[in-house]
Amino acid sequence: MNRRDFNKTLGSAAALATFGIFTGSQQKGGFIMTVNGEIPSVQMGTTLSHEHVLVDFVGADKVSPDRYNIDEAYQKVLPYLEEVKKLGCKTFVECTPNYLGRNVTLLRRLAEASNLQILTNTGYYGARKGVFLPKHVTHETPKQLARRWITEFELGVDDTGIRPGFIKIGVDGGRLPTYNRKIAEAAAHTHLATGLTIAAHTGDAQAAFEELDIIQKAGAAPNAFIWVHAQNQGAENHVRAAKMGAWVEIDGVSLQNYEDYATQVDTLKKAGYLHKVLVSCDAGWYHVGEPQGGNYRSHATTLQELPTALQQLGFSEKDIDQLLVRNPAEAFSIRIRKV
Ligand SMILES: [Zn+2]
Repeated sequence: MNRRDFNKTLGSAAALATFGIFTGSQQKGGFIMTVNGEIPSVQMGTTLSHEHVLVDFVGADKVSPDRYNIDEAYQKVLPYLEEVKKLGCKTFVECTPNYLGRNVTLLRRLAEASNLQILTNTGYYGARKGVFLPKHVTHETPKQLARRWITEFELGVDDTGIRPGFIKIGVDGGRLPTYNRKIAEAAAHTHLATGLTIAAHTGDAQAAFEELDIIQKAGAAPNAFIWVHAQNQGAENHVRAAKMGAWVEIDGVSLQNYEDYATQVDTLKKAGYLHKVLVSCDAGWYHVGEPQGGNYRSHATTLQELPTALQQLGFSEKDIDQLLVRNPAEAFSIRIRKV
């Protein structure tokens, strides 16, 4: 079926079910949506669950691909993707949201050149006091916002045909303001219509549990939710979230902290929740507005130094495979998870 026919049939539950979206059972373990289309989850392989190739912090009212040279960005990023590909990475989850520089055409070009499977996202980032939110968030309901994100999943982003593989939202720490409660609820509605997993950049543990409360009230189960940037929020909170079923993401892995982060992962393993942990560098990226994109941090530490540190703590090869292969395949599988 070509793209046009595929799009024409979308919108009916029966057509979506044909592709396994509502059941997730067509292939054992379901499937993943990459910028080059869907793949079975078992083909996901070693995965970096939270990275960036390009970010523009100029704000929602000014952000535009006209602010940088796409060829320069492509040339800057590609060697870093080739580096992780050589280290055995097969899938790269790109977490830059819309209005922060998400560029799905660039991602597809990089995926084709690097031979990595790349995921992009739908959703909005309401952290940093909402400066990356488009104006329509103020007056639209959660269901109206969700409709926009569901449409991106059904038809692709803009007119590219490139479909998101997960929902990315962002909230600050502490009690959530109205606009972020709206975004969390919109994410739950989008999940229930598409089966896409919600990855939520979250300022602190209090905000994480409020998000979990909101999505459950809307009908989505905690295992549809990834608590992004959970590092340094305390083992007690990690275990509490994992016990609820949520994914706990330790995603700032760097050369400065990988030993400490290995200890945080080990604590979750000892509590019996290794199967709920995701790890990544949250590294990169081409900084729009800086000369030649500024300083780019490598994505390699999660694949090199972190596994070595984990082995020193007694992790087996099977444990590391769980962390880098099986958990991401389960977390990003497209499947509706209801309370
Ligand atoms: Zn990030």
